[in-house]
Amino acid sequence: MPCFVVLAFFAIAIGIVYELWYFLIAVLCLASCFTAWGAFDIRLGYFTPTYVKQKNSTEKLLALTFDDGPTPFTADIMALLDQYDSKATFFCIGKQMERYPELTRQLLANGHQIGNHTYSHSTNFGFLSTDEVVAEIEKCNAVLAKCTQTQTSLFRPPFGVTNPSVARAVKQLKPLVIGWSNRSLDTVITDEDRIFRRVVRKLQAGDIILFHDTSARTVNVLRKFLPYLKAEGYRCVSVDDLLNLHNHEK
Ligand SMILES: [Zn+2]
Repeated sequence: MPCFVVLAFFAIAIGIVYELWYFLIAVLCLASCFTAWGAFDIRLGYFTPTYVKQKNSTEKLLALTFDDGPTPFTADIMALLDQYDSKATFFCIGKQMERYPELTRQLLANGHQIGNHTYSHSTNFGFLSTDEVVAEIEKCNAVLAKCTQTQTSLFRPPFGVTNPSVARAVKQLKPLVIGWSNRSLDTVITDEDRIFRRVVRKLQAGDIILFHDTSARTVNVLRKFLPYLKAEGYRCVSVDDLLNLHNHEK
């Protein structure tokens, strides 16, 4: 009988340990899922505070943003924006500004805003150390300053990736991290009408919309999208204007 009690005790103890073990695994799995999701979905602001839209928009304002330029397509986009009296924000890559300094200056001359999108837009961005992220942001800022004699307080991490390294770099350099609330997927979807429909379907006043000034596709989408916005009474302004960031001190 005592032997049976001891066995039962061990059985219960092992059962509890197993249960705890499963519970622990479940918690770890959930935590890593949230971390991975947080790292790739900038809208969550999981690692660092991120602006993704103007939540208190009383007017029909939007911020169009264009990543990864400048490129020759930037000139076409600027011409279209001018035609519709629209202002936008361009998250420029340092290397691209070095390649196209005249286009970079033209963006500001036409009343658009420039944000930092790192110097090299490394495909390994999510794996860089804090020091490497800091260097990427600072080098991009240096190119912008050399090219335009201006600074920017806006930063958008490549691929919208945020993680502890990016969060520490942001804490150190204090840029304002800008995400988006409406993503066109214009580098993924090849059908221009589908891109247009996707953006329009989710469109809300106060949105920050993500495009890329890297293909004729996006230019063609804008040929349809800008007249649509005008007809619907939307006004396109810079990120600074949408979020009232003018008084932000660096
Ligand atoms: Zn990018």
